[in-house]
Amino acid sequence: MEKVVIIGSGCAGWTAALYTARANLNPLVLTGIMPGGLLTTTSIVENFPGFPEGVDGYELMTRMQKQAERFGAKTQFGTVETADLSKRPFTLSVDGERLQAETIIIATGAGHRHLGLENEHLLENKGVTYCATCDGALPMFRNQPLVVVGGGDSACEEAMYLTRFASTVYLIHRRDELRASKIMADRTLANAKIKPVWDTVVTDVLDVKQDKVTGVKLKNLKTNAESTLDCSGVFVAIGHIPNTQLFKGVIDMDDAGYIIPKRGSTTNVEGVFVSGDCSDRVYRQAVTAAGMGCAAAIDAERFLASIEG
Ligand code: NAP
Repeated sequence: MEKVVIIGSGCAGWTAALYTARANLNPLVLTGIMPGGLLTTTSIVENFPGFPEGVDGYELMTRMQKQAERFGAKTQFGTVETADLSKRPFTLSVDGERLQAETIIIATGAGHRHLGLENEHLLENKGVTYCATCDGALPMFRNQPLVVVGGGDSACEEAMYLTRFASTVYLIHRRDELRASKIMADRTLANAKIKPVWDTVVTDVLDVKQDKVTGVKLKNLKTNAESTLDCSGVFVAIGHIPNTQLFKGVIDMDDAGYIIPKRGSTTNVEGVFVSGDCSDRVYRQAVTAAGMGCAAAIDAERFLASIEG
């Protein structure tokens, strides 16, 4: 029986692990399919306090893991398949193994939103990708025109990163103004290798017959004009979807799937706490996720003390 099981190993999960470990609760962290979470796919993180020169996303997550493990956090690589939260202790099935927990901290983060086009799916990993830092350096993208879709910080970050490899980066955005923070937007628009394509959506990805990306079909939302743009890669960076499907119908969440905390990090199920991007549709920063992980750990610790006392 575990006192605390933390589902997810991003900023929120490792911070919750650090705090519960330091409270002598020997938390068990279930990493999920992407240990370290989405931040491991970022290159340089410039806005995590304490790193004036910036820090590599993968390195930051590895350091968080080491710090939590130093105080007794246990790590298990695996994905939760089912969660029975109907009574305490809660029962989880993790890659076929049954686990019991007195408290659970959900820190499952969020995954990449897809455009929803049939050919996007068919050409995934054949030129369509959701992570420039993971795939941008592949030979197929070198000195080629590439497309980034989106107008937020992620899209700007991806576009900037891809300028190292691409001949030109086309930034396709559905409006005429970036959503990204001003510093990111200014940097992106000042980069001569990045060509913004405003008021435009991708309506298709070509070419399934050739089994690789050769271009995208575009539609200008103001003029309805349609066009084709040649490219070798499509990097989709249009936001995220919370990883909360496992808890649907059991834990209260909004229409988009973000878990709604009741007070602090508590959920509608006593003993289940939530932290990080899976419950945050507003801030979604590494440092806010870490702060939420800390809050969930303190709430879980107090809950355990109250039932034990
Ligand atoms: P985001 O801020 O939600 O931006 C998503 C972008 O995709 C928006 O520009 C949106 O257009 C567009 N979009 C959404 N659905 C679309 C669709 N179906 N078709 C075409 N375009 C679509 O997501 P994000 O950029 O991933 O950022 C998420 C959070 O992480 C933000 O809080 C961001 O500040 C943070 N972040 C920070 C950094 C950093 O500080 N270095 C880096 C990455 C992310 P509209 O603008 O028209 O809505």
